[in-house]
Amino acid sequence: MAELLIEVKDLFKSYKNEEIETQVLKGVSFNIEKGEFVAVMGPSGSGKSTLMHILGLLDRATEGRYILEGRDVTKLTDDELASLRNEKIGFVFQAFNLLPRTSVLENVKLPLTYSSAARGRKGAARWMDERAKKVLESVGLGHRLDHFTNQISGGEKQRVAIARALVNEPSVIFADEPTGNLDSKSGLQVMEILQELNAAGNTIILVTHETFTAEYAKRILRIKDGEIVGDEKVIRRRMANDGGLLK
Ligand code: ADP
Repeated sequence: MAELLIEVKDLFKSYKNEEIETQVLKGVSFNIEKGEFVAVMGPSGSGKSTLMHILGLLDRATEGRYILEGRDVTKLTDDELASLRNEKIGFVFQAFNLLPRTSVLENVKLPLTYSSAARGRKGAARWMDERAKKVLESVGLGHRLDHFTNQISGGEKQRVAIARALVNEPSVIFADEPTGNLDSKSGLQVMEILQELNAAGNTIILVTHETFTAEYAKRILRIKDGEIVGDEKVIRRRMANDGGLLK
């Protein structure tokens, strides 16, 4: 039987601003197994990013249970959450969130400098360089290592972000509207990389409001007004290399 990665039960999240409380997640429950490629889909304002921030340990639920790899994360301190996040989770955001005026290689090395894998390792600096280079080569950016992130295209920026998300070998990669700022060809390239990563065994959770993008995943969780309203397998899955646009 496949191993469970994420178990979420009756998750609630509300925000309170100036005495006005907004209920954003209203009792969300689902499981995700290791190796899945799930799209969380729903209209703007439905709670997708809020859910992703909680699953990605960037925020906490107001109520409910969240078990990540068998561990109840609701009970962890902020420091424990931050270190678990760095080791277990990779993020890819719509706006790339790279450090400007910093090289591609340095951006990808950054998460390694905080990781226990590098700490105390003999020749850590060289190991980090080699590791970051290898991951950048795997997303087709071996020739861009020393470019600054403001000197490369949008598609390349998102591939740097994917390399940065991958460098610590996380248990799960969250991609929040990763093609939202890209032209269709670069978007397709990003989806192809995500599919390849999933085929290699990585668990991917994609947040999107577009059916077209969601259909690259294997399963779609639909969210509306803070509730899960659908959970289905993608029957006619879109494959990024189908159209041969990249070839
Ligand atoms: P989506 O990603 O599906 O567009 P979000 O999770 O970003 O939705 O937002 C869901 C709802 O929560 C929206 O109505 C939004 O205005 C509200 N919201 C998000 N963050 C906050 C916050 N920090 N304070 C108050 N309301 C928020």
